[in-house]
Amino acid sequence: MRITMRLLIMMVSGWPAGTLFANVLENIRVHEAPDHTRVVFDATEVVKYTLTNDADKVVIVFASTKPGAQLDTEIVAAPRQRINALQGQVSGPDYQLTIVLKGRFEPKAFTLAPIAPYGHRLVLDLFAAGSGQKKPVEAPRTQGDRDVLIAIDPGHGGEDPGAIAANRQYEKNIVMQISRRVAAKIDALGGFKSLLVRDGDYYIALRDRFEFARKARADLFVSIHADAFTRGDVRGASVFTLSERGATSEMGRRLAQKENSSDLIGGVGEVSLKGKDPVLKSVLLDLSMEGNRSASVDAGKSVLSSLGRTTNLHKRYVEQAGFMVLKAPDIPSILVETGFLSNPAEARLLSQSAHQEKVATAIVQGIRSWIENSPPPGTLLAKRLAEDRSRARGTRYEVVRGDTLSRVASRFGISQRKLREANNLKSDTVRIGQVLVIPAS
Ligand SMILES: [Zn+2]
Repeated sequence: MRITMRLLIMMVSGWPAGTLFANVLENIRVHEAPDHTRVVFDATEVVKYTLTNDADKVVIVFASTKPGAQLDTEIVAAPRQRINALQGQVSGPDYQLTIVLKGRFEPKAFTLAPIAPYGHRLVLDLFAAGSGQKKPVEAPRTQGDRDVLIAIDPGHGGEDPGAIAANRQYEKNIVMQISRRVAAKIDALGGFKSLLVRDGDYYIALRDRFEFARKARADLFVSIHADAFTRGDVRGASVFTLSERGATSEMGRRLAQKENSSDLIGGVGEVSLKGKDPVLKSVLLDLSMEGNRSASVDAGKSVLSSLGRTTNLHKRYVEQAGFMVLKAPDIPSILVETGFLSNPAEARLLSQSAHQEKVATAIVQGIRSWIENSPPPGTLLAKRLAEDRSRARGTRYEVVRGDTLSRVASRFGISQRKLREANNLKSDTVRIGQVLVIPAS
């Protein structure tokens, strides 16, 4: 009856036919995350909608909307984790979509303003009832034999493709592949364990990425990316750490700006931002960040020099810029740009498994040598290195690539001065192949 009334009113008030369907629903995408399914609707105008949730059904009525010629509701015809079917039907001036679910889910919907490469969007997140966000189990910090935990964050994902290469490859997919290789190599080291922050094609808010690593008590956070620039000849890998005081280069500033817009493209509802601020506002933040800043730079240097033996570098030093994803207050954090997808040769390389293996190996070697230089207390690795050290005292050590006097000294747990004296060194310079006497303590 109500519908008839509305039609009647519209006929009486003489709305022009064109405004009946002010909006066009053009496309539907589905992204599946471990804790939720995201359904995204593309429209030509701001979406006005009503949402009802009833048992295992979510019904969205798009006001004054018609389906576009290309709209494919068959997108969920394939088996989906949480959706059984998606049915659309024109209902007067509106378009009604019924989503039949495999059980009870909590729907959360929000709209997103246009940002390249998208126009207006409505996002529907379906969370398993009562699940909220994905919560990693807090790792107990038992002393003596825990693994060193490395959080690997593949950039972008889901709605956010990241940079798009000349060969149409998406950054989100390339960095997922590289990250999985990095994770596998870390797990193979022994005494190390990897934690993939994203493990599939879905988007995670930037804050949630480092929160995830914090809760798991990771010892290092590594965000992995591949960049694009307006010029095709720009190339090489770079490593970044966080700067709150501006970027060390114009490229760094531009990059941070681009990476930080991920949340706008990937889509972050108010929900995922709620309750996250206390940590960031903490008075301790500045203090703990200061300590982590130098640790981050050291980790970055180690990874950069390892990468430099495998691939071209964009800059020979660790750069700094205001990356949102690196704002973990208590974990050393670095961001690795593995190369430029806008450079056709590098895009080709980064898509190849042989090159991805090389890059992953270099990243892991860099991480490993940084961690081994000062292993986190309470880890199996720290225990093992201390044992090696006491065995090695009174013996000799041959300097290898990457060694410095201070590095050798800290490896064997002795002071730099003692090592210099034991070897009658006039300076702190050591060369590859040089044999040093390691004094018994
Ligand atoms: Zn990126």
